[in-house]
Parts: sequence; C-alpha cells; structure tokens
Amino acid sequence: MLDDARKNQIRGYYRALFQAWGPQNWWPARSRFEVIVGAYLTQNTAWTNVEKALANLRSVRLLSVKGVRHVPLGELERLIRPSGYFRQKAKRLKTFINFLDQRYGGSLQRLFSRPTAAVREELLQLNGVGPETADSILLYAGNHPVFVVDAYTRRILVRHGILPGKGDYEDVRELFERALSPLAEPVADSPESSTQNLAPGLPSAMHPPSAMSAAKRTALTQVYNEMHGLLVGVGKNYCRKSQALCGGCPLQPFLPRLK
Ligand code: SF4
Repeated sequence: MLDDARKNQIRGYYRALFQAWGPQNWWPARSRFEVIVGAYLTQNTAWTNVEKALANLRSVRLLSVKGVRHVPLGELERLIRPSGYFRQKAKRLKTFINFLDQRYGGSLQRLFSRPTAAVREELLQLNGVGPETADSILLYAGNHPVFVVDAYTRRILVRHGILPGKGDYEDVRELFERALSPLAEPVADSPESSTQNLAPGLPSAMHPPSAMSAAKRTALTQVYNEMHGLLVGVGKNYCRKSQALCGGCPLQPFLPRLK
C-alpha cells in the first residue's frame, strides 16, 4: 500500500472510532508519577493487575516520587506483587527514581520541560524502558507529542494489510504521527467536534475520566492520546489475538477486499 493511502486509512480509523466511541479517557491516573509507575507495571500483565498494585501503593501513601524513593526495596516488591515480575519491576522503579534525582533533582517538571527527543533518549537508556514504555511516559505523563505503538496497533495494521509483518517500532510510530498530525489542525475534526453520535451498544470510554486524562494538552497530543486508547478498545473488544471478531467492529469497512 502506498504511503498516502496508508495515512488516509489511519485517519479514517481515527474518525470512525472516535465517531463510534468518543473519548477514551486515557491514561487512568491521578498524577504524572502514577502514569509512570503504571507504564512500568503494565509490562507483560493485564491492567487489572496493575490497578491492584497501584491501589496497594496508594493505600500506604507511597504512590509518589518521595514514597518510592524512601520505601525499602523488599516492601516495594511486596506492594507491587500483583503486577507480576515484581522484583524486576521494583528494581526498575528505583532506577527511575535514581535517574530523576541525579539528573533532575527529583523533579518531573524539570525532566518533562526538556525537548521530546532528549527526554526520549534518556528514558530509553534506563533499564526496563523500551520504546512503548518511553512513549507512554512521554505522551501520558509528559504531554509530549509522540504516538504510542502497542501490540494491538500492530495486529490491526497487519490484518488490514498496512503492515506486511510486525514492522519496526519507529517506522510504525512515524507513520501514525505523519498520518494523524493533520487532524490536530484547526480545520480537521477535533475530539470535541464529534462526540454527538456515539453508536449505541458499543463500548464507550475504557476508563472513567481521571486527573491525567483531563489534563490540559495540545491538540496534537490529544489526538495521539485518543487514537491509542481507541485502538486498545479495538484490540480488546474485537481484534483479539486468537480471533478477529470483525462483525460489529467499527474498522470492518476498512478491511481489504478479498480478490
Ligand atoms: S476485528 Fe476485524 S475489522 Fe476489526 S480491526 Fe480486527 S481485522 Fe479489522
């Protein structure tokens, strides 16, 4: 498929999904640090397990930079145990705090005030931070304009013939960013402009609104935010790993025609 056709199709996905489901209220968190902890904990586990670990940290008032800085490693492991790989994840959270303290005096504000590429580069150097985690942190905690590519996104693209195989992370990210950036222009549909006609009976927002989902952000970061949440909705409800439930999926009209 030619590049322009791929970009048009991705813009079509956005319009169709947003028309059907409206805002998805990502990321479900009360603070930027909670987004960061969630981005680490969600690796290789379901979000429901992450919620249990976050609730444990919150219940003892440790869901903060200060809290994770001072809690003994063993106690942190115990609290985040429901998220799986808890020893590895506890160590990685401590590594993030060390990085934040040493480079930015413990200030997320100072970290995220740096240029996107510079922060991304630094995050990718940290143990346990791959491109998806780095971009989740940048987009949802830092409000930087980067698109998050996850397994759902790749699966949909492959099934629709946009990607021949798994695809390189950076190539897919750049494709989405080139495709979606015009939607942040004033003439394009904005998220607020098409919330009226949500299809009945289809999944609405993945999460209730939260402090972070409602945080002030640019039009571009809002489009990237929504698109990621909408594709997660497709992956969870229709485009499952084991089976594609195309009937009723808002992206069914975009399926390639069989020759
Ligand atoms: S479920 Fe079917 S229509 Fe929906 S994204 Fe997957 S392949 Fe496309």
